[in-house]
Amino acid sequence: MAGKLGSSSRPLRVAVVGAGPSGFYAAGALLQQKEIHVSIDIFDRLPTPYGLVRYGVAPDHQKIKSVTKVYERTVADSRVRYFGNVGLGEEISHDELKSHYDQIIYATGASSDKQLEIPGEELTGSFSATEFVAWYNGHPDFADRDFDLSVESVAVVGVGNVAMDVTRILAKSYAELAETDIADYALEKLRTSRVKRIHVVARRGPVQAKFTNPEIKELGELAEADVIIHLADLILDPASAASLESDRTAARNLETMQELAQRGATGKPKQIHFHFLRSPVELTGDVAVQSMRLEVNELHPTETGYIACDGIGSFETLDVGLVFRSIGYRSAPIPGVPFYEKWGIIPNEKGRVTATHKGEVVPGEYVVGWAKRGPTGVIGTNKPDAVETVQQMLADVQTIPPVADEKADPKAILALLQGRGVDYFTFEDWLKLETIENERGKAEGRPRVKFTSEAEMLAAVRVEG
Ligand code: NAP
Repeated sequence: MAGKLGSSSRPLRVAVVGAGPSGFYAAGALLQQKEIHVSIDIFDRLPTPYGLVRYGVAPDHQKIKSVTKVYERTVADSRVRYFGNVGLGEEISHDELKSHYDQIIYATGASSDKQLEIPGEELTGSFSATEFVAWYNGHPDFADRDFDLSVESVAVVGVGNVAMDVTRILAKSYAELAETDIADYALEKLRTSRVKRIHVVARRGPVQAKFTNPEIKELGELAEADVIIHLADLILDPASAASLESDRTAARNLETMQELAQRGATGKPKQIHFHFLRSPVELTGDVAVQSMRLEVNELHPTETGYIACDGIGSFETLDVGLVFRSIGYRSAPIPGVPFYEKWGIIPNEKGRVTATHKGEVVPGEYVVGWAKRGPTGVIGTNKPDAVETVQQMLADVQTIPPVADEKADPKAILALLQGRGVDYFTFEDWLKLETIENERGKAEGRPRVKFTSEAEMLAAVRVEG
């Protein structure tokens, strides 16, 4: 071997699969440590980097997106390269990655979603929030989705921040949306939307809502939509009231909901109705959804302190023509990589991939972010999460079998991709595309106008030369 693994003559070769926040934080943590020399390649199946920052964070939350400046600094380091448009299991196989990199980090996020598992869920007009979010954010895989916004009444199931994003985008006026980087086709479709009532359905009570304070406050500031919350729904059971003492977010959420309930309808053209203690049990309609049957729930605290809900056998019906279930994401399995179906994650111990749940460690393979811990937390949560994984990687350097020197040569992977005719996107390509998007945005007073097709992204950059 050219030198000890992790020395300057034989740096540790690391592949990061997925260029979202968790992948960049993992690369950043590897660069920051001083013990081991590293050389990192970041891959993404799309040409564009930044994962959920580009395709998940709401288009009207631009401040959150400025976190990409940190990721730009990471990839500007000479020890890091970016390969967009290179998908694991597509342009490159798991075995090929294994033979070229001493360590692999999966930062593949959670691209799939949970199902309600109720009759009628397959009807036309029943969607996951994931699809709608990816569509309005211009994700190339979702650009051709069609949502019938000619209906007047829509249900959003779940009360997390994703549900709030979907509700807000449906409720905003054209003028409010037109200053964002929402995909052009989505802006046009929402311009002619006839949606007037958005029903937000929560299976538990207001104190158990998962949204955070700014998100519920924002609903109260919309130009064209009133929030309708019944004051009676905010009268708390003893367990919920007690839980407020140790949960400031829930206490503040409740204050905001009390203000909104007192304000009531002010005559705006759209209404956001909150329905607490209601679980969807069936969607009905001939081909398309026409209504949602709900069972009324009651809360009961469990031994662990969790406040659960149970149906009481009393039912109601909501007439709705579209349903977005916003009840959580799941990771999708990757060929050749272990997957724990029950939790929808890559099984791991503090980031070391294991062959099965609580099984043997798979040497040289690691995981970060939502694929590691499930779909929880904000972007910043991925930073300490990545540090934890990188600590395991560093501890393993002297015990893992290094790949052959000729494969570890950074030129080897280039030869493989070029030999296969893969039109990969470098970071310079991305910066060119970003400049074009930003210029198109400037012309319209928007942060950027996104390219939403991979072919157009590649063509735009290749034409620019
Ligand atoms: P989430 O916060 O876990 O919310 C999921 C919601 O779905 C909860 O209200 C949950 O209710 C409900 N739910 C789950 N299973 C259900 C079922 N079978 N029937 C009815 N309701 C069900 O997930 P998320 O909204 O997808 O967000 C994922 C993560 O991204 C969160 O950490 C979130 O904060 C973050 N995020 C942050 C922002 C932001 O910072 N602005 C924006 C978007 C997302 P229970 O509580 O009863 O389980």
